[in-house]
Amino acid sequence: MIELLKDLIKIESDTKEGANKALLFCADWLKRQGQEVTVHDNEGYLMLTAIKGQGTETIVWNGHVDVVPGHADQFVPMEENGRLYGRGAADMKAGVAAMMQAFVDLDAETLPRIVQLHIVTDEEIGGRHTSKWLVEQGFHGDFVICGEPTGLKVGLQSKGILRMDMTFKGKPAHGSRPWEGINAIESAMKYHMAIAELPFRKESSEYYEQTSVNLPIINAGDRYNVVPEICHMSYDIRFMPGQDKEEIVRQMAELAETLNLDMEYKASGSTPALTTSEENPYIQTLKKSIQQTTSQEAVLFGQHGAADTRYYATVNGGEGAIEFGPSGDDWHGNAEYVLLSSVHDYRKILVSLALS
Ligand SMILES: [Zn+2]
Repeated sequence: MIELLKDLIKIESDTKEGANKALLFCADWLKRQGQEVTVHDNEGYLMLTAIKGQGTETIVWNGHVDVVPGHADQFVPMEENGRLYGRGAADMKAGVAAMMQAFVDLDAETLPRIVQLHIVTDEEIGGRHTSKWLVEQGFHGDFVICGEPTGLKVGLQSKGILRMDMTFKGKPAHGSRPWEGINAIESAMKYHMAIAELPFRKESSEYYEQTSVNLPIINAGDRYNVVPEICHMSYDIRFMPGQDKEEIVRQMAELAETLNLDMEYKASGSTPALTTSEENPYIQTLKKSIQQTTSQEAVLFGQHGAADTRYYATVNGGEGAIEFGPSGDDWHGNAEYVLLSSVHDYRKILVSLALS
């Protein structure tokens, strides 16, 4: 399995062509181990599915072979002190290699459920051409593991995304007599300072301290001697599982009225929060498998960013898709590595969950 991982790291999969090459390598490897594999093509983005087992339940293992760009020397795997360095070692060719080996390990005849292996090629640029497409074609399950590097911790929730584009309207006037106008930039500032007091900002949940609110874009004003009439301001809001997106929009809109500001807005963002809870029976089984394999308590946590889990979770109302993978560090950085012992543990945990 570690040789497989090294071979995967050697393929420069930081481009569409490179990721497709890595994908075909995986398909070939699985076929040589006697597995049935289907390669799919969506607008030139390749992905594969391999399915075995029987029964009414389905578990999906999802991994991506595309990586963020790296230096030439990062595509030469280097082993040192139990660590394997290389681009994609952690994010997430280790997860992919362990999933492939675990899939081969499973005996199709005695498997008590269906296991689907999905390997995809565009996670780092949003996953819309492969994981999203697979879900739309009906490839999904009751429980989905995306093998992102989580240090063998269970990332069972993630925040949803709400984007709000706002236009504050003032009244232009000459800069020498600002009292005759309404300054749209000052309206926006007043609004921004007041947001912290809204009810949704004061909420917290089991895995999150707060909603995150980022003000990344502001556009207004173009000359010294004019009171600005328009100020555009955009927010990127990440809301917690359990919070209602529409209610947040309502509070944001109502605040402008309360402050007596002339504001129009547009709300967008289609990423829901992922809401799997500790009570989920697969999480219970996974916790036991982690404890048995690593002799340590399983740790559950909430992710802040989004991964391909979001596409699978839409099928079950936000439930049942988690991030769970081996241990490493510095993914997207220059010293990316994976801890080899965690890759072995990860493979064992995947197999034990599939058989439980
Ligand atoms: Zn990743």
